[in-house]
Amino acid sequence: MKEEKIHLHDKTFKPYIRHERILDAIDGVARELNSDFHGCTDIPVVLCVLNGSIPFTGELLQRIDFPCQLVSIKLSSYQGTQSTGTVLNVMGLTSSVRGRRVIICEDIVDTGNTIVALKEMLLDKEGAAEVRICTLLLKPEVYNKPVKLDYVGMEIPNAFIVGFGLDYNELGRNIRDIYVIDE
Ligand code: 5GP
Repeated sequence: MKEEKIHLHDKTFKPYIRHERILDAIDGVARELNSDFHGCTDIPVVLCVLNGSIPFTGELLQRIDFPCQLVSIKLSSYQGTQSTGTVLNVMGLTSSVRGRRVIICEDIVDTGNTIVALKEMLLDKEGAAEVRICTLLLKPEVYNKPVKLDYVGMEIPNAFIVGFGLDYNELGRNIRDIYVIDE
């Protein structure tokens, strides 16, 4: 791992989680999934939440040993003017998930607004039979939803990170390791 700090736009980030440690966490998640879905007779959907989850989903897929279908979705979320909170715009589900078991692959869960709204939408609007949440990273100090996170790769403190798919204004997604903001 490079020990140097990196600069993206106007901010500086310092080394935080090595690539090898990330892969260990993905190994762990894959073991749990393979155990839970062993012998399944359906074809579960592995749902990649674009763009941040591309590296995570790519590594996870290579470790999954049950038959599965890769589907992607792109979301844009924003705070509504009402107190109901986050509004989700579906910008594309690349294939129908009606009647299917879905494993959402998310890069990071922070407040959980995105993942919880996505789960509800897949069940209520898209007709998924079951939805499980799989996230590489979780900020437990911030997550405040009563919804179970079925598979969690690693818990981290509440700090802004980049790398391994995570961006700062679209920069940093290509970096192998994870870096944390240097304040
Ligand atoms: P939530 O809806 O759980 O509050 O936020 C989830 C989304 O916010 C993630 O999919 C990710 O896009 C973004 N996010 C949350 N924390 C971080 C972070 O530390 N770094 C980056 N780059 N994005 C984050």
